[in-house]
Amino acid sequence: MDLPRRRSLPPAAEDHRSAPHTAAGALQTPLRFIKGIGPKRAEQLAAFGLKTVEDLFYHLPFRYEDRRRVKTIGEAVVGQEDTFIGTLAAIQKKYNPRRRWQILIGQLTDQSAGIGLIWYRAPAYLVNSLVAGQRLLVHGKIEAGMGGQRQMIHPEFELLGDDDSRSLQRILPVYEHPAAVPLSAMRKWLAEAIATHGGNLASHLPAATMQRHRLLDPAEALIQLHQPSTELNVSTLNSFSSPAHRSIIFDELFYLQLGLGIRKQKNIHSRGVTVPGQVNMLTRKMTSLLSFRLTGAQTRVLEEIARNMESSQVMHRLIQGDVGAGKTMVAWFSSLRVIDNGFQVVWMAPTELLAEQHFRNLQPYAEKLAIKTRLVTGALPAKERKTVLADVAKGTIPFIVGTHALIQEGVHVPRMALGVIDEQHRFGVAQRLSLQQITRQTTGAASITGQPHMLLMSATPIPRSLAMVLYGDMDVSMLDEMPPGRLPVKTRVFTESQRKTVYNLVLDQLRRGHQAFVVYPLVQASEQLQHIRDATQMADKMRQSVFKEFGVGLVHGRMSSAERDEAMRAFRDGIVGVLVSTTVIEVGIDIPNATVMVIEHAERFGLSQLHQLRGRVGRGSAAAYCLLVNRAPGNPVAQQRLRVMERETDGFKIAEADLALRGPGEFLGTRQSGLGDFRLANLARDSRLLVDARAEAQAWLQNDPELTSSESQAMRRILLQRWGQRLQLGAVG
Ligand code: ADP
Ligand code: MG
Repeated sequence: MDLPRRRSLPPAAEDHRSAPHTAAGALQTPLRFIKGIGPKRAEQLAAFGLKTVEDLFYHLPFRYEDRRRVKTIGEAVVGQEDTFIGTLAAIQKKYNPRRRWQILIGQLTDQSAGIGLIWYRAPAYLVNSLVAGQRLLVHGKIEAGMGGQRQMIHPEFELLGDDDSRSLQRILPVYEHPAAVPLSAMRKWLAEAIATHGGNLASHLPAATMQRHRLLDPAEALIQLHQPSTELNVSTLNSFSSPAHRSIIFDELFYLQLGLGIRKQKNIHSRGVTVPGQVNMLTRKMTSLLSFRLTGAQTRVLEEIARNMESSQVMHRLIQGDVGAGKTMVAWFSSLRVIDNGFQVVWMAPTELLAEQHFRNLQPYAEKLAIKTRLVTGALPAKERKTVLADVAKGTIPFIVGTHALIQEGVHVPRMALGVIDEQHRFGVAQRLSLQQITRQTTGAASITGQPHMLLMSATPIPRSLAMVLYGDMDVSMLDEMPPGRLPVKTRVFTESQRKTVYNLVLDQLRRGHQAFVVYPLVQASEQLQHIRDATQMADKMRQSVFKEFGVGLVHGRMSSAERDEAMRAFRDGIVGVLVSTTVIEVGIDIPNATVMVIEHAERFGLSQLHQLRGRVGRGSAAAYCLLVNRAPGNPVAQQRLRVMERETDGFKIAEADLALRGPGEFLGTRQSGLGDFRLANLARDSRLLVDARAEAQAWLQNDPELTSSESQAMRRILLQRWGQRLQLGAVG
């Protein structure tokens, strides 16, 4: 290994080096030990998110530059993105006193022509680094400037030294880099890191898998992406679809799926409470209480669940279905089967309002079926809480609904055989696990054998690819059929100037005796007050003018939950016709008489969120409307996005579009488990590779479930190193 000799190493680093180092450990070497990276550079890189050699390896080029043939400036075509090499013939800074920034204007020439270079708000390092006479490579979009002169605004650029002619026949990687670090330095350090540590890259895929999917060795692929050879195809490199890219993405997805597969096996091997299927009195009675018949999909999913709970394996099942598909009924019928067998069921919802709603909706059925119920939320006064929890702990209350308050200390449900989590994306993995554990809390023992089964419900459809990643260790039931007679919610996008039309549409519905929601977006704390002020003002204005005769309620995030509930109840009971709200109604509130929903600042919502909100209306048999007010009509992207809502009613298709537009983190609204954070894979773009990687991982586990074969050894090491902690794999096998 080529040790940096220029400075003496601090003792800790000495240790690091002399310890018997695994390849994986070596990749954790801090960047300051790479030749050429001093403490200051290391700090700049760390601030940029690059701390270790491994970070640097996975910091892939975002673009490749084809220097095998660089065009002359004379060939520049306005509107295209291109690369030119020339001499900086002039450079001039102008201070804009009114705006207090510097504009930097340069002129790049070659033997054929010249092109203007412009940097607005030029930072000092830029002003100082450019001097007339330098040889420069610039890359950017060519625009028409004043007097027909071609120019580039804020081009990427590189200073070319004397030895750069070498680089001219090559394909060069272009990296994102800290402002103060030159691109050329990034390239040098990567070369250095590859020379010293490239051999330590952990890499192993089954040979047959590589052959089937025409993959390269992942470590070689990674190196190739940093040092592309001249014969590669630049356009596949630039679209992240080169064989090397595919190989690394596959590698990343394969190991995650391997880990999820192992977790799933663990689940399967854990013993669940056996819930026999023969007893189903309650199911029969409930069926006769219903005013509708279950859909085919509901019946099918119920059977999937029943079969799961009959076996001795514990169930982890996600119910996926579009908004309004009737997930609650599926969970209720499953609960009845469990209750019929003398066990307890616990439902957990993310908000008090939603927990109450489930409780209120199901309570009448429970009464008719003589099932004792309890509601456990944070709103429960301490004294009452004590009594309620004591009742629950006796094991004689079969149906318990609540919020996070359920997974706090002191809750003990000794005969729990089923946990239901609604709007599960609001909960983290840890919280889901704790609900499963409350059987054992306090006394440390359950009075029944086996773990409770878990049923999770998603709020809105999750794209298949994302579900495979987030819930790859679970079974998924698709509730892919809507109850009959549902009309699609008529959706239209409006601008502020069309407000009158919007109000008239609302008035029309109110006059027919229906109700309306007006929603403001969920915003960051810094903006929250402003939005609450807006919403409050809007509600006041409506109260005094347009909707005077119908009554206008208001709920917002800064109200106490008691105030909020009061306003919600007034709306639910039809006392007010319009409910203006910020944030709180997005979860599954069910008010069938509400037929119109106005969404203000619709451009700020994700599409799936809009779909979820829209699902709040159209629950009854009357036609329903969703009016999206776009407050940023100048933004063509926002407008285009919102148009998707006008056309598309299928929640799964909307979810796919949303994932592609915003990425997994944003899509979910919460970073729940870190499983969606990939170094390279992009679930919207790489869903095909994901399907393949999953199939290969499953096939491998089929043959070698415990990863005990000799070929599995390298894989087991890589798996534990990458996912051991995040997936809580412990010692695999
Ligand atoms: P989601 O799947 O979005 O949670 P819900 O479970 O809240 O949907 O169901 C939406 C509405 O549809 C509820 O009012 C529910 O009573 C009703 N519903 C459920 N199943 C059926 C069915 N098979 N036929 C008619 N209506 C149904
Ligand atoms: Mg629901």
